[in-house]
Amino acid sequence: MMTGNETDRPTADRERELAGALAALRARIDAAAAAAGRDPAEIQLLPVTKFFPATDVLILYRLGCRAFGESREQEASRKIAEVHNSVDSAQIRWHMVGRIQRNKARAITRWAYAAHSVDNMRLVTALDRAATEALADGTRAEPLRVFIQVSLDGDENRGGADIARPELIDELCRAADAAEGLEFVGLMAVPPLGADPDAAFARLAAEQTRVQQLVGRPLQLSAGMSGDLEAAVRHGSTCVRVGTALLGQRPLPSPEVVTPVTSSSQTTEPQS
Ligand SMILES: *Cc1c(COP(=O)(O)O)cnc(C)c1O
Repeated sequence: MMTGNETDRPTADRERELAGALAALRARIDAAAAAAGRDPAEIQLLPVTKFFPATDVLILYRLGCRAFGESREQEASRKIAEVHNSVDSAQIRWHMVGRIQRNKARAITRWAYAAHSVDNMRLVTALDRAATEALADGTRAEPLRVFIQVSLDGDENRGGADIARPELIDELCRAADAAEGLEFVGLMAVPPLGADPDAAFARLAAEQTRVQQLVGRPLQLSAGMSGDLEAAVRHGSTCVRVGTALLGQRPLPSPEVVTPVTSSSQTTEPQS
């Protein structure tokens, strides 16, 4: 079975696999948008490539993807360096979607176009300071886009500012909005484990409406993953963050990322 281009075969197989999964995913988003009476162009697909190799990023890039989500600073930095020489990396927007440790703020502002998981004042301050410095020294050309992550059940271990404390959320949104190095763009949430996604995203959408009034302009909504993107689109999501349904099952998680992986393992989506 050996052939001359044996080493290219796994890449070709993976490319076919990812092309099929990407087409199926786009069809799901289009159908969800149509069912909700929305324009699918309003809904960004953000492939979440955490745990998957840089070679998968390159394949997705060839298939037209220009934005990727990562959940750990070091993994992201390494992957970005790996793809740097193969593609026009200025074309790629990297999104930090995982929990952010304050001492990683500086590193993150070196590569992230947006951060989806900002949920406390000290982090807002740290990211603002780091992004302002990066803007001043030319490491960044634009402010860091920031989503304030909301917790729909107040479980702080899973990240997010407690939605039951609107004064806290207001303070965070106002601070992100006022920060020179940041651009406050919207809200993000992950439904609580075992929760009905429709009810969860309905609460999130109501919170988005409330915060839009506070800041006086429309906001984005980062909501929906492999298992619940239809419900998220129904409730106004403008960015679905999809890992498993595109790239397949992730390997066993390391402890610090146990939350998102646990939630995705509840999905009912077929795995490739
Ligand atoms: C891993 C992750 C995702 C992707 O989850 P899937 O269920 O695999 O689609 C989305 N959002 C965040 C914050 C994640 O950490």
